[in-house]
Amino acid sequence: MSNNPNKAPAPKPWINAIHAYVPGKAKSDDGRELVKLSANENPLGCSAAAMAALAVAKSPAAYPDPDSASLREAIGGLHTIDPARIVCGTGSDELLNLAAQAYAGPGDEVLFSNFSFAVYEIAARRCGAVPIIAPDKDYGTDVDALIENLSGKTRVVFVANPNNPTGTYLPEDEVARLHAALPSDVLLVVDQAYAEYLGEDEDDGGLELCAAHANVLVTRTFSKIYGLAGERIGWATGHPDLIASLNRIRGPFNVTNHGQAAALAAVGDQAFVHASRDHNTKELERFVSVVESLGNHGLRPVPSKANFLLILFEGSLTAEQAYNGLAERGYATRWLPGAGLPHGLRITIGTSEQMDEVLQILRDLAEGSK
Ligand SMILES: *Cc1c(COP(=O)(O)O)cnc(C)c1O
Repeated sequence: MSNNPNKAPAPKPWINAIHAYVPGKAKSDDGRELVKLSANENPLGCSAAAMAALAVAKSPAAYPDPDSASLREAIGGLHTIDPARIVCGTGSDELLNLAAQAYAGPGDEVLFSNFSFAVYEIAARRCGAVPIIAPDKDYGTDVDALIENLSGKTRVVFVANPNNPTGTYLPEDEVARLHAALPSDVLLVVDQAYAEYLGEDEDDGGLELCAAHANVLVTRTFSKIYGLAGERIGWATGHPDLIASLNRIRGPFNVTNHGQAAALAAVGDQAFVHASRDHNTKELERFVSVVESLGNHGLRPVPSKANFLLILFEGSLTAEQAYNGLAERGYATRWLPGAGLPHGLRITIGTSEQMDEVLQILRDLAEGSK
């Protein structure tokens, strides 16, 4: 028997195999505050109605509504979903983890694409399952590769659409084709964290798919277009049996008083959502065209439908140099060597003034590196 007071118990081996999530930075390596274009936050902040709701939310001494009932009703009203088919979470991160935990365990496989959301691998490993990473196609999700990597052990398939960190998008027929290839006992999770940034007439069909099929879960978040990342609110919808499973294992008071109040007010202010999308569409388009104009310096934008752009550096200016050059001039961006993208820099769409500056810095760096 060991009696060493300095020796902590060994965690399960699959927990030891996890590389902790690396959040986007807000400070330079030498400690300076930077403009944070590294975490896909909304540069316009959040709805004024949500700010007002935060100021008058229920006392922090009182536990929140464990069922987020009013919020679920409002989300259901906005998206025409029965609130019984909705569960709210501490960000959609909680719900992604719960989906893996509820349907996969040791020996099972959780499948997702190369260059997709970093949380999927953590969610898979947390419950002892084996993450299976299908090859991408031009940095986007490849449905054929996902299908080829299905096995008898596959229990959960994650697809982020639009995808993070690449911004790529899988159209409705491709999502449907993937779903059609899955046995009914495999759960498809369509992570629509950036869905509100799509054009009015664009829809990957995830919500209809999960209304019609008991093995599809769609997740959404208030962290991105709603600008409430700090309050940690997400939601998921699907068959009532899926929702019941997640309800069994979620934190009983998983959305705070402030979170529920702010999200409820935010749902009621769709004008803010539209303004945020319009801003993003306009600035993303301008960003892409400037990056394309630097193609002779080896910069290449990956087509994005989200609130960020992944730029590939394939010339003499490296992604690392661009990352450091932007940080020197005040901007935090996301360099992604740990995600297999040492040649990629993900930059969140900021305010128009911030984008003016970022574009000028990129021009200077590209032209200075000849
Ligand atoms: C940001 C993001 C989320 C949302 O995380 P929250 O926990 O809701 O803040 C989920 N999925 C993807 C792909 C994301 O980029």
